[in-house]
Amino acid sequence: MKKLITNGTIVTAADMYEADLLIEDGKIAAIGKNLGTGAEEVIDARGAYVFPGGIDPHTHLDMPFGGTVTSDDFETGTIAAAYGGTTSIIDFCLTNKGEPLKNAIQTWHEKSKSKAVIDYGFHLMISEVNEQVLEEIPLIIEEEGITSFKVFMAYKNVFQADDETLFRTLLTAKEHGALVMVHAENGDVIDFLVNKALKEGNTAPIYHALTRPPEVEGEATGRAAQLTGIAGSQLYVVHVSCAEAVEKIDEARKKGYQVWGETCPQYLVLDQSYLEKPNFEGAKYVWSPPLREKWNQEVLWNALKNGQLQTLGSDQCSFNFKGQKELGVGDFTKIPNGGPIIEDRFSLFFSEGVKKGRISINQFVDIVSTRIAKLFGLFPRKGTIAVGSDADIVIFDPNKERVISAETHHMNVDYSAFEGMKVTGEPISVLSRGEFVIREKEFVGKPGSGQYLKRARFGSQEKPAEKVR
Ligand SMILES: [Zn+2]
Repeated sequence: MKKLITNGTIVTAADMYEADLLIEDGKIAAIGKNLGTGAEEVIDARGAYVFPGGIDPHTHLDMPFGGTVTSDDFETGTIAAAYGGTTSIIDFCLTNKGEPLKNAIQTWHEKSKSKAVIDYGFHLMISEVNEQVLEEIPLIIEEEGITSFKVFMAYKNVFQADDETLFRTLLTAKEHGALVMVHAENGDVIDFLVNKALKEGNTAPIYHALTRPPEVEGEATGRAAQLTGIAGSQLYVVHVSCAEAVEKIDEARKKGYQVWGETCPQYLVLDQSYLEKPNFEGAKYVWSPPLREKWNQEVLWNALKNGQLQTLGSDQCSFNFKGQKELGVGDFTKIPNGGPIIEDRFSLFFSEGVKKGRISINQFVDIVSTRIAKLFGLFPRKGTIAVGSDADIVIFDPNKERVISAETHHMNVDYSAFEGMKVTGEPISVLSRGEFVIREKEFVGKPGSGQYLKRARFGSQEKPAEKVR
């Protein structure tokens, strides 16, 4: 089946030009003019941008946390992602100490395989390094194509790993060709500050932010970067929220260390004052790291523009306000951390970034798609519009205005952190490997049609990754 997208403006991380795009067998078969003959279906994209599909490198779907489970699973989460212009996600597979890593991966396959409507891969959490883990890692890279490992420097007594674990993970990643990701906050200091706040009777949501000051993020980011330098390895810092962390990443990069940083839309448009909303509504804005003082937004935008930060993840981690966020009434430490955002990452970033002149349209594509594909072993199969790449395409109306609201979003959650925010630009149709998932703003995909992404080793992105299952 051949499809032809005509009259659109193709935008990649490097170029912007008018051309037609021929899709055959799920791949981009040709780009040029007058490709019209032989296509069974012609899609008119006049007035629209034709973007490579967004890649969200940071999602938590169907994830247990703090005695509850995120409200979006791989079905509702990937449908919402597709509505928002995202055609691939990489989700975090949580592991349990003492259990084979393989078991955790199997659990994540079971959560996702019959549900995902777009392609998906996994990062694997490493919470301890021992002989068994060291034996398993090369096999997991080889067999599962999981080439990124996440280490938590925070969440003491839950996910937190010590510095030896981080350092040995960095060494192992270097040896086998993987990227180490860190949640960079000093969990020990946070634990102390949290206990102190509770003892003093400070239980409201705002204390979530006040007990995790930006310095603990800056400290952990700098520590992780230095350990990466010693190991000669490679590091990706997730959800960078503040100036202190940007500085440390920039410093490390200037030394020539292989360190990259991701930020998220919430840190670009929301700020710490949201945690003070009345009637416990501040709980809707509890992320870790927390929202920061507003001036940090400009620091983050500049860092994206200047290349000090390189990617945008959503950190999708949705919990309903009713019944889930409310677990923390009277004790902010019981508020599940995270928010719904998988659907809005792409268009919010376009609206606030490109439309407001903060980044170029090519930077937009690089930050939401191309760079992510390169760092996580998916390029050039994903992340660009080129002959031979998967036909993961977003047909995007750059002038359509809409208001974000829980009434109209597709995530399975009872609020939006961006309620009432006006955005310009909206995905009209979205294709995954040449098949419509969203057609004229209607979901037409099928649960289970998303494929598991086996990813290439770090540093070998030039070779097309192979598919499994
Ligand atoms: Zn996260």
